[in-house]
Amino acid sequence: MKKRVCLLHTGGTIGMALTDHGYAPKAGFMEQALSVMDELKLPEMPEYDLIEFSPLLDSSNISVKEWNQIGRHITELYDKYDGFVILHGTDTMAYTASALSFMLGGLTKPVVLTGSQIPLCQLRTDARDNLVTALLIAAESKIPEVCLYFGSALLRGNRSTKISSDQLIAFDSPNYPKLAEAGVRITINERNVRNRNAGQYVRREADNDGAGHGEAGGHAAALDFTPFAEHQIAVLKIFPGIQFEVFENIMTEQLKGIVIEAFGAGNIPDQRGALDRLLEAAKANRTVAVVCTQCLRGSAVLGKYETSGSLIEAGAVSGYDLTVEAAVTKLYYLLSQNLALEEIKLLMGQDLRGEMTGPV
Ligand code: ASP
Repeated sequence: MKKRVCLLHTGGTIGMALTDHGYAPKAGFMEQALSVMDELKLPEMPEYDLIEFSPLLDSSNISVKEWNQIGRHITELYDKYDGFVILHGTDTMAYTASALSFMLGGLTKPVVLTGSQIPLCQLRTDARDNLVTALLIAAESKIPEVCLYFGSALLRGNRSTKISSDQLIAFDSPNYPKLAEAGVRITINERNVRNRNAGQYVRREADNDGAGHGEAGGHAAALDFTPFAEHQIAVLKIFPGIQFEVFENIMTEQLKGIVIEAFGAGNIPDQRGALDRLLEAAKANRTVAVVCTQCLRGSAVLGKYETSGSLIEAGAVSGYDLTVEAAVTKLYYLLSQNLALEEIKLLMGQDLRGEMTGPV
């Protein structure tokens, strides 16, 4: 029997058409473009159903609401398909991939995000291979992960990051090997693929936004969907000469989480006064502070150097080799459940979905 894939089209360059104001997503364009792609009619291709979001979005405009929408679609349609492909703009694709990896607990089927740097309607488009290969992987691979396929590589979604705004190899997962490579053949690197029973996922019966968890199909290993609540989260990138007082106003009780992008292994400048006030405010307001590294590779481990001492005192936690995308979305995930502050901090430092290597 032919495999079936659900193709969710959210927008992005892949489905853009030339309008009077430059390239923009166009409703109905994808359906028409796919209908004339002969390669999709070949016997080895799976059947697919296209679901187009309305409105189609440039991914710069994708946020918590759309992540929840995508997660809900996958949950509701989970039993009907062998896998899912999500067409998405490249700008925030790594964020959406990370978000879905946390949202969808107990995943047993591939969810593959892809898009393109050049629109499908253009001569030198990279969309054709990205789309065809993503469909094949979603149909056949059985990889129980949220992944990102782009430029011949299949990456773990919550390890991926956009590395180029104009190259066709636009993504990398600097701290984790590729899950698969599509050369002459599609080669799956089985030992890099997550065991579906690995790790843990946090499950609570009630969550803060009252949206509840959804279960698809009533299987023993049901998909556990956790919608995110729209918490206030900040990302603070440290730079030489940073004047921490500039950021004092954002340190309110509403700020539930802050990702600090520190130097190297988790270091920040030692100008105590202003930083201390910032960190004290975080502690008093019960804001979860997570420290990641600005380096493309490697980990932030607090306590390695003296310069991370104030962060430890303030109760900040090491983000190890989390990407900023994974750190932000993991915060959303944990903050969207009825978890105690200490539990959230503990879980931020533990691997839940293959997103971090943890202390080494
Ligand atoms: N701005 C576009 C988007 O992220 C870029 C792309 O798709 O490549 O939607």
